[in-house]
Amino acid sequence: MENTILKKEFKFEAAHCLGFHKGKCHNVHGHQWKIILYLKNNCPMDENMIIDFYDIKKIIEKYLEEYDHSFIYYCRDDHENNIGKILEDYGSKTKMIYNYSTCENLSKMFYEEIKALLKSNKEWWHLQLVAIEVYESEGSSCIYKE
Ligand SMILES: [Zn+2]
Repeated sequence: MENTILKKEFKFEAAHCLGFHKGKCHNVHGHQWKIILYLKNNCPMDENMIIDFYDIKKIIEKYLEEYDHSFIYYCRDDHENNIGKILEDYGSKTKMIYNYSTCENLSKMFYEEIKALLKSNKEWWHLQLVAIEVYESEGSSCIYKE
């Protein structure tokens, strides 16, 4: 199985803006984000399956639920943080993060968080997160891998 990589796609809808950006992305706008996981199995005994697609779906969909239909904002950027706080005052769903929500940063953030999530469960010790790919629109993506 060492040359086999499992690929699983997930989608969620969320709004964001880029406080530092001088162009259109400075404005609040939305995307259908697509996250692709690439996984390997490091257990030499498992010859037939890396992980059941159903199991990985359950784990990751629960994790991504925090982001779905939210406004993602960077807490240390005044522009983004002020919009986030106003939305929270009105009871809207937000997701505060610790960096700008560019495709580049999100792919690294999802990689680190999902890697930690997989590590936290003893049953998935054999899983290796090879890479995370984040699409903010069709044809535009960023891959993060170690
Ligand atoms: Zn955008």
